Amino acid sequence: MARALVTGGAGFLGSHLCDFLLAQGCEVIAMDNLLTGDLRNIEHLFENDGFKFIKHDVTEYIHVPGELDYILHFASPASPVDYLELPIQTLKVGSLGTHKALGLAKEKKARLLLASTSECYGDPLVHPQNEDYWGNVNPVGPRGVYDEAKRFAEAITMAYHRFHGVETRIVRIFNTYGPRMRLDDGRALPNFMTQALRGQDITVYGDGSQTRSFCYVADLIAGIYRLLMSERVMPTNIGNPAEMTLLDFAKKIIEITGSSSKLVHRELPEDDPKVRQPDITRARNELGWEPKVSLDEGLATTLDYFRSRIDELPAD
Ligand code: UDP
Repeated sequence: MARALVTGGAGFLGSHLCDFLLAQGCEVIAMDNLLTGDLRNIEHLFENDGFKFIKHDVTEYIHVPGELDYILHFASPASPVDYLELPIQTLKVGSLGTHKALGLAKEKKARLLLASTSECYGDPLVHPQNEDYWGNVNPVGPRGVYDEAKRFAEAITMAYHRFHGVETRIVRIFNTYGPRMRLDDGRALPNFMTQALRGQDITVYGDGSQTRSFCYVADLIAGIYRLLMSERVMPTNIGNPAEMTLLDFAKKIIEITGSSSKLVHRELPEDDPKVRQPDITRARNELGWEPKVSLDEGLATTLDYFRSRIDELPAD
């Protein structure tokens, strides 16, 4: 039986990965310092004999007893609001945390998959973004703490691969949504959905002409697993190429919630990317993967989750 460590295992993506790996018959250890993760995302797994949780900050030396076949390094604040509030932790987990995870992979002779991000492309000048594009990142802007941490993480991952022969994989994750997103993480979907469900104004930043391409979490996890099992070392985009403006996205949320909320415009955050769409040619050709869940289906499942949790949010 394969044994996997998921750092950030109590987070949105990490917890879905734990579910998926357990379903594949892996033994899973979730590690999280619970800074932005939430034990409620994995509490349904505590009864499972193949699952273990370790509360630990991966910027400190990581000790895991026994053998490990896979390390999936997903620990990091990941929403712009979170990483603006936690800039040093974000830089540390991307740099020191990735170093520790790679050290563990070398020691255990495990294959490490790094959760990287479309943020490596910054405010892109190439559209759609393919993996050969080096990006347009402002290192000293507010988003630089995340973008540069992930770019460093990719660099050190390649160095461990080239210099120490560690088996590595790098996924560049594009905007992803689904159940277990934090309702208050400040991203577009949680903001729009909670605002719509509460009948509050929907805050569209800027004129809403900026674009994103939203991938349902189950599709993303399936793609990541394909990548983990593949021989592809160089970074691979995983995301849904269905691109839309934020204005249209906000209108879609109003439509599916049947809300009477109105759109209001707020200032566009500094360095907010104007466009984003993954070129997934490589994932299609080399992993045989592409997203299957439509926006309507994915949003319906996500809305059920938000409805079930909305009363837990403090009133503002
Ligand atoms: N956004 C918005 N209203 C909100 C939150 C976000 O219009 O209440 C915009 C944000 O400016 C960005 C897009 O939605 O253009 C996606 O933002 P998100 O925070 O989800 O993640 P990003 O893709 O920027 O990392």
